[in-house]
Amino acid sequence: MQVLIPIAIVIATIAFMEWVAWASHKYIMHGWGWGWHRDHHEPHDNRFEKNDLYGVVGAAMSISMFMLGSPLVAGDYAWPPATWIGLGILGYGIIYTLVHDGLVHQRYFKYVPKRGYAKRLVQAHKLHHATIGKEGGVSFGFVWPQDPAKLKAELKRQREAGEAVVRESAGA
Ligand SMILES: [Zn+2]
Ligand SMILES: [Zn+2]
Repeated sequence: MQVLIPIAIVIATIAFMEWVAWASHKYIMHGWGWGWHRDHHEPHDNRFEKNDLYGVVGAAMSISMFMLGSPLVAGDYAWPPATWIGLGILGYGIIYTLVHDGLVHQRYFKYVPKRGYAKRLVQAHKLHHATIGKEGGVSFGFVWPQDPAKLKAELKRQREAGEAVVRESAGA
């Protein structure tokens, strides 16, 4: 039984991090944090993007939790569950880099999924890249994709309402 609580904390943290990523992508990265996110939405030949700094922020969050969880670092203030939270944040970071950097943007492997969850995830994130600039947009989560048909309908609505500039290729 003792092992179930840490596992539950790790899984809950991964789920919570998808919400954190969604909210910060929508309200920070497409808001006052656009300066770091912008180059992810523009074509370039660079190996790295300023946007990768958000990954560094995530790593710092994870490391801080490992420090808080460790008596070696935090002494009497150590809070053991923080270790499992740190592991969950790390897990989310690994999933993010596999599905977003890898599967969708093909930064270090090339695989085009034909069906199921992975295909839907790629479609949903491609639709995130269908808008130009920071205004409007859809699909701000990275791991939990919404129905692409619904996302296309929302893009169409945003274009017609003048809330976003949508690329023709989006099929919206
Ligand atoms: Zn974005
Ligand atoms: Zn992307």
